[in-house]
Amino acid sequence: RRAEFAALRDLPSVTQDGARIELMVNAGLREDAQALDMVGADGIGLFRTEFQFLVSATLPQREKQQRLYKDVLDAAGDRPVIFRTVDIGGDKALPYMTREDDEHEDNPAMGWRAIRLALDRDGLMKAQARALLEASAGKVLNIMFPMVSEPWEFEEARTLVEHQRQWLIGQKKKLPVAVRYGAMLEVPALAEVLDLLLPQLDFLSIGTNDLTQFLFAADRAHPKLAERYDWLSLAILRFLDRVVRICEIYKVPVGVCGEMGGRTLEAMALIGLGVRRLSITPASVGPVKAMIRAIDAAELQALMRDLLDSGASDLRAQLTSWAEQRNI
Ligand code: PEP
Ligand code: MG
Repeated sequence: RRAEFAALRDLPSVTQDGARIELMVNAGLREDAQALDMVGADGIGLFRTEFQFLVSATLPQREKQQRLYKDVLDAAGDRPVIFRTVDIGGDKALPYMTREDDEHEDNPAMGWRAIRLALDRDGLMKAQARALLEASAGKVLNIMFPMVSEPWEFEEARTLVEHQRQWLIGQKKKLPVAVRYGAMLEVPALAEVLDLLLPQLDFLSIGTNDLTQFLFAADRAHPKLAERYDWLSLAILRFLDRVVRICEIYKVPVGVCGEMGGRTLEAMALIGLGVRRLSITPASVGPVKAMIRAIDAAELQALMRDLLDSGASDLRAQLTSWAEQRNI
C-alpha cells in the first residue's frame, strides 16, 4: 500500500464530515526536516533538541545549536516547528556532563531529567533559549518544556526564556515575531492542576510514551511489560478524555506527540476523543491520513463517548470492528 500512501501526500488530512486533523512529524536531526516534504506533513510537532546533545562528543555550543534550529526552520518554510527544550538526564545521560557522586539514580526515568535538570543547571537552558530565539528571528518560535509536573516549573522556564528575549532586545538583535509557549503533559500530576496552567499556555502536547509509563507504573523500555498494558485501555482513554475536555474549556490547542498517535487504531481513538493534532513518525503519516480521510469524526466521537461511559473492557476489539464495518 506504499504507493497508495504516497498518493495521499498532497491530499488534505480531513475526515468525511470535514474535521481537519493536523498531522505533524516527530523529528530530532537536521535530516528529519526533509521528511516533511516527503510525506506531506503540516509541520514538526516535536523536535527533540536533545538528539544533538546525545550525538555530540562535547557539549554543543550555542552557535552550533542555533545553526541546527535555523536549518530546521528553513527546511520547514512556513510550516510550524515545535522545539522541545532538552530532555536529558536520567537514562539519556551525557558523558561530558559532570555529575556528583550523590547523583546516582535508581530510577532515572523518574529522576533528575528534562525541565528539572534544566532549571537547576540554568546555564544550559539560557544558552538554548538564546539559540532558539536567534534562530527564529523574523519567525514564530514555538517552544515547549518536557516533564512539567507543576505550573511553577513552566513559569520559571518561561521567565528564563523571556529574560533572554529582553537581553536580545537590549542588544538590538532581530527577534522572533512571536514566541508561543507550550508544555508537555507526560507526568500525570500535571493533569490535576491544568486549570492553573492552561490560562498561561499557547498549546499543550501530550507525551503518551512517558504518560503511560507513569500512569501504569510500568517502565516503557521493559521487554516484559511492553505488551502488557494497552494504549486502548479504559484508564488511558478516560484520562486523555478529561485532559482534552479541560483544554476545550480553556480553548488551548492540544495535541498528542507520543508513539500512540502513529498507530492507526490508536490515532482513530484519539480523534474520537476530540484530538485534532497528532505528531507522529514520518512513516505513519500515510496510513494515519488514509484512516482520517475514511472516517466520520462525529460518528466516531459518539462511539467513544458510549464506550467510555459504559466502561467497555474490550475497547480495542470494539474499535477494530467499528473500523472494519466501514472498510477503514
Ligand atoms: C513522550 O514521552 O511521549 C514523548 C513524546 O517524549 P519522549 O518519547 O521523547 O520521551
Ligand atoms: Mg517523554
